[in-house]
Parts: sequence; structure tokens; C-alpha cells
Amino acid sequence: ALTIGIVGLPNVGKSTLFNALTRQTIVAANYPFATIEPNVGVVNLPDERLDRLAEIFSSERILPATVSFVDIAGIVKGASEGEGLGNQFLANIREAHAIAQVVRVFEDDNVVHVEGSVNPSSDMETINTELILADMETLENAVPKLEKQVKGKKAEQAQLDAYLEAQKVLERGDSIVSSIESDKLEMEHLKHLGLLTAKPFIYVFNADDSVLGSAQKRRELAELVAPAEAVFLDAKLESDIVELSEEEAREMLELNGQEESGLDQLARVGFDTLGLQTYLTAGPKEARAWTINKGDTAPEAAGVIHTDFQKGFIKAEIVSFADLDAAGTMNDAKAAGKVRMEGKEYVMKDGDVVEFRFNV
Ligand code: GDP
Repeated sequence: ALTIGIVGLPNVGKSTLFNALTRQTIVAANYPFATIEPNVGVVNLPDERLDRLAEIFSSERILPATVSFVDIAGIVKGASEGEGLGNQFLANIREAHAIAQVVRVFEDDNVVHVEGSVNPSSDMETINTELILADMETLENAVPKLEKQVKGKKAEQAQLDAYLEAQKVLERGDSIVSSIESDKLEMEHLKHLGLLTAKPFIYVFNADDSVLGSAQKRRELAELVAPAEAVFLDAKLESDIVELSEEEAREMLELNGQEESGLDQLARVGFDTLGLQTYLTAGPKEARAWTINKGDTAPEAAGVIHTDFQKGFIKAEIVSFADLDAAGTMNDAKAAGKVRMEGKEYVMKDGDVVEFRFNV
């Protein structure tokens, strides 16, 4: 499954946030195929379309798509040099498909800051520097090996060029992901290295009221990390509200000037950052969202339900959620000519409501 690794300095609120994520996991645990591991938090991706589908099809239950987060312990200065457990932590992040960096912007004299004061820019720089140093080390090991292979005609010069180009980027202190376009980095040649700074990045600002309530402060922080995505939340508040009923939670969020919970925001942004989208299925048993990559074809989408669906794919009966919603029932959508039969080449769109036809 696709996962997002959580990183950050010690004492910035990672555990607090992760506790909130895992308590949501218990709610998400009725997801039939989920195996819950202790360091993985599975969060439902909020999707109002499913409520509407459940209404149209009188579905018994709703199964949203999910986003998985992996808890990775704090990074301190020197982590890339393998001090303490640093190296092992970095090895854990290597497995993640995207990285969410928790950054402290809350003031609290009772919570010690590892570097003396609350300073988001310098904290982000500390973490990002460690990630860059770790990638430099990866390349320092990989380049001499590849040079030998190129000499022995066992590898391509183009791959070595890509390694050297990546090294240049890191040496001037930039991340791979921010330089892919400007430096024309050949990601195909770099993929298998698992470079940490090549992963998509999300910044999670763990904030208090003074930031959450100020559009200007949020804008300033978001600009600081752009084009990476920024999410603003109060980890303590998030861990409190997962205990509450939906209604109480909404009231609590409104009191704090927020429309949706930080976890919901994080799930949404995480899902987008991973390059995913959902299609929908519905019937009397369940209304359900299925996770696919942007650009997947109809048979690939069918394969997410079952590999046999992909192998035996014949065609897909598809209506867009918007059209079905407007029509009110499947029959009315059909009568209005909104239900299409699509074949193997069809590229799925987010919000397609689908029924597959297949041979078994
Ligand atoms: P970690 O080391 O990054 O995992 O940080 P923790 O989650 O253990 O948090 C460190 C301390 O900061 C704990 O005492 C938390 O209760 C506190 N803390 C975490 N998030 C917030 C927050 O949003 N506001 C305040 N005031 N305290 C927080």
C-alpha cells in the first residue's frame, strides 16, 4: 500500500499527531482487507459523494478510500551520519512514497524545543539538510560502483550522467524533487536509489490559535514551502476530537475557526500528493471508493477490486458522479443518456461510478 512517512525534529508533536491518526484507524478498521500494524495509521479519506451514493442505492454501509501514514521517529542533527538510531530511521523513510514533515509553530513554555526556540524555517532547514546529506551518502556509495559497471559495459553512461547530475543538485543544497524540471533530472535512472529528497513532500504545521486564526501567518508559512503543500493543524486538538462524536467534533472545530479537521485535510493533501484518485461503486450492500493512479485505464481500475476482474475485463458501465447525482437514480441517468459503455482503452476519471462486466 502507498504510505506517507512522518518526520520532524523531536518534540514537535509527531507522536501526538500519530496518536490521533491511529485512533482514527480503529474507526477505519472495519475496512475488510486492512491489516493494522502498530506503526501505521490508516485514515479515511472524507468523501461526501459516498453519502449521496448510499442514499441513491440504499447501501448498508460506506467504505471510503484510505491513506496510510507511517510513524518514523524524530530526526536530530547528525542523523545522516548514523548517530544513535539515525540511520535506521532514515531507512524506514526510504520505504515511504511521500514524506510529511511536522513543523512546530506552537508556543508552549512547558514544551522544550530541541534547538532552544520555536523557529520553523531553521527547523525545516535542519531536517532537509539531514535528508540531503543522507542522499549524498547514497550517491557517494553508488557512483563508484556504477563507474566500474560502465567501464565493463554492464551499465549505461546515461545512468552515470544522471547520478552525477543528482549529486550536483544535492551539493548545492537543493532537493531532488525541487530540481527535476530545472535540472532535467532523468528520474528513470534515479528511481531505484530510493533517494529521500526525491519523494513528494508535505509540510504539516503544528500550530496554535495565533496561527490557525491568522490567514496572513498561514499564507506566509505556505509561501515558505511552496510549491510543496502545507497543512495547518493543532495536533493536540486533533487528538482530542477523535474521541468525540461527529457532531461534537464539528462544533469544536468551528469554535477553533476550522471547517474540517486537520486529519481530514492531511488525508486529502496526502492523497493528492501521492498522485491518486478514486472511482466509486455502489449497490445495496455498500457504497465504496477505490483507489487508483491518475491515468489508469478501466481494466487497471477493475484489477484493484480483483485481479480476475482485470483479466476477464469486457467493458465498464460508467456514469459520472455529477450526472448520477443530478439524475437521482440509475434508471433516470440511463434515460437521460448519461450512462456509457466503455472499453479497455478508457482512461478513468475521478468520481466515475462504475459497474464492470467481465468473464470469469
Ligand atoms: P514528538 O517528539 O515530535 O513526537 O512530540 P510529541 O507529540 O511527543 O509532543 C511533545 C510535547 O508537545 C508533548 O508534551 C505534547 O503534549 C506537546 N504538544 C504536541 N502538540 C502540541 C500542540 O499542538 N500544542 C501544544 N501546546 N503542545 C503540543
